[in-house]
Formats: sequence, structure tokens, C-alpha cells
Amino acid sequence: MSPLSTLSAMPAAVQGKVALVTGSTSGIGLGIATALAEAGARVMLNGFGDVEGALAAVRKHDASARHHGADMSKPAEIEDMVRACEREFGRVDILVNNAGIQHVAPVHEFPVERWDAIIAINLSSAFHAMRAALPGMRARNWGRVINIASAHGLVASAAKSAYVAAKHGIVGLTKSAALENATTGVTVNAVCPGWVLTPLVQKQVDARAAADGVDNEEAKRRLLAEKQPSLQFTTPEQLAGLCLFLCTPAADNVRGVAWAVDGGWTAQ
Ligand code: NAD
Repeated sequence: MSPLSTLSAMPAAVQGKVALVTGSTSGIGLGIATALAEAGARVMLNGFGDVEGALAAVRKHDASARHHGADMSKPAEIEDMVRACEREFGRVDILVNNAGIQHVAPVHEFPVERWDAIIAINLSSAFHAMRAALPGMRARNWGRVINIASAHGLVASAAKSAYVAAKHGIVGLTKSAALENATTGVTVNAVCPGWVLTPLVQKQVDARAAADGVDNEEAKRRLLAEKQPSLQFTTPEQLAGLCLFLCTPAADNVRGVAWAVDGGWTAQ
């Protein structure tokens, strides 16, 4: 397959497939869900907040798009979400485990409840969703699991212990599941973004602005300068492009990778 036909195969690979994207009412998840719908997938959204706004954005491309309100910290609700997708759309072909939260504090001050929530939502939810969706993918001998990890799945930062532990964990979970399915048409990979300017990161920009006594623009510049050599935020659209690529036949043998899209953060 020529590189050009790989690119033009991106929408074709996704046409008519069923995609379930967790945490897709905002930020990166919404960007990925929108791109999958634009490429012809039928999409099940999940997440809190502006559900109607997210559905409206995705329904511009996939009129049949649905939303399931499962709380990703609750295993029974995750199972119900996967079953609902199978009931409404017939199956789950593409599972994007994206839901995530953040809390910033040193270990000796980290609230136990925040630790438990981050491990549940950022790590265990992916296990529960994969456990429910993989049997169907294996039976049909085609599937894509894309776990949205982070640069923090590869390297650490201070004051992010739970997040770093969860993201390193999801990289390990990805490798293990990729090996288990290596002789099948089901691939399992992780995507590791650097800074992306979503509500999750805007909170950290706000905290930086307050701590340093600087404005929003200067706080963003300082966050980037500290970690991300490109000095550019990664965009949800760029991450969606990688997810689409991972769905093409050109990516059939991409298995168990942790693919950084981090402006050089983890190259340092
Ligand atoms: P965001 O805050 O914009 O979106 C998070 C989504 O998760 C929302 O749809 C929210 O409703 C949903 N969510 C939160 N808790 C949930 C729960 N209990 N059950 C169901 N849904 C829940 O954040 P984002 O920046 O788009 O982050 C998405 C993913 O990307 C996360 O896993 C995050 O760790 C990862 N990530 C983000 C960045 C970044 O710089 N923004 C970098 C690397 C990785």
C-alpha cells in the first residue's frame, strides 16, 4: 500500500464501524469522536457536562450518535455502557479509553479519595471496558483499542503521583492486552499526548497564573517551556488523526506501542 493510499484509506477503514469513546463530551475525547464520525463511524459518546452540545457536534456527521452516562469509576456502569453500545449499534469495533481526571498535590498531602478516583477513572475503567468489549472484537477478528495515556505514562512530574501511576499503568495494560491479541485482528495501542489545551489543562494554567502572578498567556508559555520543546500545544485534531491512522490496515501490525504526540517532551 502506497503512503498516499494509506492516507486515503483512513476514512474507508472507519466507514460503518462502531466506535465507543469514553469521556467524549469535552476536549480530546470529543475531538476523536467527532473525527471518527466524520470518517463514517457510528459513535457512542460518554461523559458528563455538556452532553447535548457534544451530541450536536457529533450528530453533524453521524445522525445516529448516542450518549451513555456511565460513571467511569463504576465497573457495573462501564459494563452496561458496552452492552448498550452492542444493543444499539450491534457491536463495538473501536474502543477509545479516554476519560480522565487530574489532581495536583505532593504524595504527603494527596487526598486518599482523589487517589482512588484517579486510579479508577484513568486506569481501571480501561480494564473494565476492554474486558467487556474484547470478546466481541476477538469473535469478529477485527478491533481497535486505543488507550489515551499521556507523556506521564512514560515519564513523571512532581505532584502528579496518582496520574503518573495510572498513566504508567495504562501503558502496561496496553502492552499486555496487545500481546494477548497479537495473532488476531484486534490491536491494542496507547497514545501519549503532551500538553493539550483542554479544560483539564486550563485548570493547571489558571493555577500557574495565580501562583506566578502572571496572565493566562504567560502561564501557558511557562507551562509549555518547562516540558514541551515545540512550545506548541498538541491539538485534539492531531490526536484524532493518529487514532484514524491506527484504524487503517497500515496499522494492522502496530501493537502495544505507547505513541508520543508531545512536541518532544519525552525525547529529552
Ligand atoms: P477534559 O477534562 O476536557 O475531558 C475529560 C472527559 O472525561 C470529559 O468528557 C468528562 O466528562 C469525562 N469524565 C471525567 N470523569 C468521568 C467519569 N467519572 N465518568 C465518565 N466520564 C468522565 O480532559 P482532556 O484533556 O480532554 O483529557 C482526556 C484524556 O486525555 C484524559 O485521559 C487525560 O488524562 C488525557 N491527556 C490529556 C492531556 C492534556 O494535556 N489535556 C495530556 C495527556 C493526556
